[in-house]
Amino acid sequence: MITSRFQMCAICLEPIDLCTAETDDEGRAVHEECYLMKMKGNPPTENSEETSQ
Ligand SMILES: [Zn+2]
Repeated sequence: MITSRFQMCAICLEPIDLCTAETDDEGRAVHEECYLMKMKGNPPTENSEETSQ
């Protein structure tokens, strides 16, 4: 059984230190940078009503 303090980032699959890990919406450990990238990568599906007219 492997007991490691490091977990895989759910986004980039690189080892991540849980001390500095962020948690995504699914409760998985992710890098803060990866999480931010994911946030930017996903277009908002709510509250995105554009009243351009
Ligand atoms: Zn990552």
